[in-house]
Amino acid sequence: MFKYIVVGAGLSGAVVAERIASQLNEKVLVLDRKPHIAGTCFDSKDENGILVHRYGGHLFRTENEVVWSYLSQFTDWHYYQHRVLAWVDGKMVPLPFNFNSMDMVFSAELASKLKEKLLNAYGLNTKVHVTKLIQSDDEDLRFLGEYVYEKVFIHYTLKQWGRRPEEMEPEATINVPVLVGKDDRYYTARFQGVPRQGYTQMVQQMLSHKNIKLMLNTDFLELAEVKADGIYIMGKKYDGTIIYTGSLDELFGYRFGRLPFRSLDFCFETHDVEYYQGAATVHYPNNYDFTRIIEFKHIHPVDVKRTTICFEYPKEYTTENDERYYPVLTKESKATWLKYADLAREYHVIPLGRVGEFKYYNMSEAVESALRAFNDIAK
Ligand SMILES: Cc1cc2nc3c(=O)[nH]c(=O)nc-3n(C[C@H](O)[C@H](O)[C@H](O)COP(=O)(O)OP(=O)(O)OC[C@H]3O[C@@H](n4cnc5c(N)ncnc54)[C@H](O)[C@@H]3O)c2cc1C
Repeated sequence: MFKYIVVGAGLSGAVVAERIASQLNEKVLVLDRKPHIAGTCFDSKDENGILVHRYGGHLFRTENEVVWSYLSQFTDWHYYQHRVLAWVDGKMVPLPFNFNSMDMVFSAELASKLKEKLLNAYGLNTKVHVTKLIQSDDEDLRFLGEYVYEKVFIHYTLKQWGRRPEEMEPEATINVPVLVGKDDRYYTARFQGVPRQGYTQMVQQMLSHKNIKLMLNTDFLELAEVKADGIYIMGKKYDGTIIYTGSLDELFGYRFGRLPFRSLDFCFETHDVEYYQGAATVHYPNNYDFTRIIEFKHIHPVDVKRTTICFEYPKEYTTENDERYYPVLTKESKATWLKYADLAREYHVIPLGRVGEFKYYNMSEAVESALRAFNDIAK
């Protein structure tokens, strides 16, 4: 029997497995019910030779040098800087909403008045949250805040979450800043990029350690049974450590109820044009059922005459055939997760990752959390 079992070969599972294998020199079994590694970051080339992110566009960014250096052991980077447009009032405006966006949707006179007021109030290259603008004493800045809230934020949020922002914890809804300046980059983090050969290749490198045994197409819940006195694997009580990156409600038979998640349908299309749109991501806050379109050639440039795009249609996670993509963070759902986390502790199961910890982690935060979990294990 393996002393460590990691359920899930996504980024979180790969980091913790790699650390245990390389730093503790222990054998680790990594299981995933999917037919591939890398979980939600999974990417692969399509029939046009374009590297496609199969579960939505994934752009890596971090302020954390430890995370960046750690991942850089397993990949080279393409130093891509992400740009996003939004379809607003018939125009493709840059996000975050900035001086360029104002020039596109307002008259020259109004745009210049707003820019001057923003510069005086907050200073060049600052990011001001729309709610702060909405609460401003200045009538024009209030107008700007309300415009961005209405045209960029609220309908996107309603589509994405199927709920009003007030119904959720603040960390769940997207943070919508107005940028005081002309910097069109979506992220300004110190380290940004995408793995040169893709996320799958990077995760493959992590899992290639000789102490790691990988089993795909293997659902842990089909091998394991949670009994009153412990977790049994193929009929035998397991006394090692289980690191679980799946959903705790499912592991424990939904005994405290279901944890809510949002899911997505991805719809891929190939077009016989060099480029379909002006940036890797275009948001459609106010039109259509999809939230955004991703065009992968902007992220991973390749010399082909065709292009592949992906529409993202948000939906509620309802059946076991859906994927759990975004934890819906409310006071109640967090309280339910805490009950499951207590139970996990009793069973010596370590919940990990975006789904396991029920947190809205980006990839950097997922890696950070996995490194932290490893440090606790190694103590
Ligand atoms: C649409 C979308 C876009 C995103 N874009 C970005 C982005 O641009 N930048 C960014 O930094 N982050 C982004 N993220 C977040 C990023 O995907 C996650 O932070 C990261 O992938 C989390 O990895 P994980 O290993 O924790 O979870 P996952 O990738 O979900 O991996 C968990 C794995 O566990 C497996 N599993 C679960 N239960 C079982 C079981 N019972 N038996 C066997 N296997 C099981 C699953 O099959 C899965 O492969 C995005 C997420 C989504 C959904």
